[in-house]
Amino acid sequence: MPRSYGIIGWPLGHTMSPALHNHGFERLGIDAYYEAWPLEPKDLPAFMQRVRTVPIHGLSVTIPHKRAVMAFLDEISDRAEAVGAVNTVYWDKDRLCGENTDVIGVVASLRTLDPLPRSAVVLGAGGAARAAVAGFLELGIPRVAVSNRTRSKADALAADFGVECVEWSARMDSPWDLVCNATPLGMAGSLEGQTPFDAARLTENAVAFDIVYNPLETRFLAEARAAGRRTISGLEMFLHQGLAQFRLWTGREMDEAEARQLLLSALRQ
Ligand code: NAP
Repeated sequence: MPRSYGIIGWPLGHTMSPALHNHGFERLGIDAYYEAWPLEPKDLPAFMQRVRTVPIHGLSVTIPHKRAVMAFLDEISDRAEAVGAVNTVYWDKDRLCGENTDVIGVVASLRTLDPLPRSAVVLGAGGAARAAVAGFLELGIPRVAVSNRTRSKADALAADFGVECVEWSARMDSPWDLVCNATPLGMAGSLEGQTPFDAARLTENAVAFDIVYNPLETRFLAEARAAGRRTISGLEMFLHQGLAQFRLWTGREMDEAEARQLLLSALRQ
C-alpha cells in the first residue's frame, strides 16, 4: 500500500504541492502518493485523529489550519513555536511533529547572498511576514524591521520577535539592504499591477525579495530588475519549503534543479 501524504486547507485553491511531491516520489522510486484534501475547520479534530489511525505519513498545512493544528501534535519545533504556525506535520518514530518549513524556505532563498544584508524590512504582518522575520533572524541579519498597512499588527509582530516597527508611510525612507514583500500586492488578480515599494527608492546594492510567486516576476521585482537591483522570486521560498517537507517525510533529497523546472513550467502554463 502506498504511503499517504497530502495538503489540508480551506478553501483549498489550486496548489502546486501535489505536482512537486508526486514528482519527487516518482523520481526516487518511493511508493507514496500526495493528495489535496480540502478540510473545513470544524473537521480538523476528527481528521487529526485519522492521521494517527489510518495512518497518514505526512501533511502540508495551509490557511486556516496552521495554528489550530498545533493542538493535535506531540512535538513542535522551536522555529514553528516562534512563528506560531505549523505548515508541515511529520512522524518521528511514534511522535507526530510540527515544523515550519516556510522559514526554512526563506533562509534557503537567501543563502547565496554574500555579503549577508545588514538590514532588512519586511512589508506585511501576516503569516508570510512572520516566516520572513523568523528567517531573517535565523540568518543573522543584524537589523530587521517590519512595516504594515495596519500598524497595530506590525507592532504585535515586532514585539513577538523583538524587531523594529516602521510606519507604513515611512517604509521607503531607510536605506535597506533587503526589501521583502510579504503582502499580496503584485499577486495575479486584482492586485497584479500594484507594488509595495518604489524601486527608485531602493539603494544601489539592495536586494528585492518578493514572497509572491504568481506571477513569477511581480511588478516590484520587474521594476527592481530594471533598476539594476538583484531580485529573488517567491518561487524560491515555495520550492525550498517543499524540498524541506520532502526531506522531513522521506529522509531523501529531491533534485533541486529538476524541481525548480517543474514549478517554473507549472507557473508558465
Ligand atoms: P495574510 O496573513 O493575509 O497577510 C497579508 C498582509 O498583507 C497583511 O499584513 C495585510 O495588511 C497586507 N496587505 C494585504 N493587502 C494589502 C494592500 N492592498 N496594501 C498593503 N498591504 C496589504 O497573508 P499571508 O499568508 O501572509 O500571505 C501573503 C502573501 O504571501 C500571499 O500573496 C501569499 O500567496 C504569499 N505566500 C507565499 C509563500 C511562498 O512559499 N512563496 C508562502 C506563503 C505565502 P493588513 O494587516 O493591513 O490587512
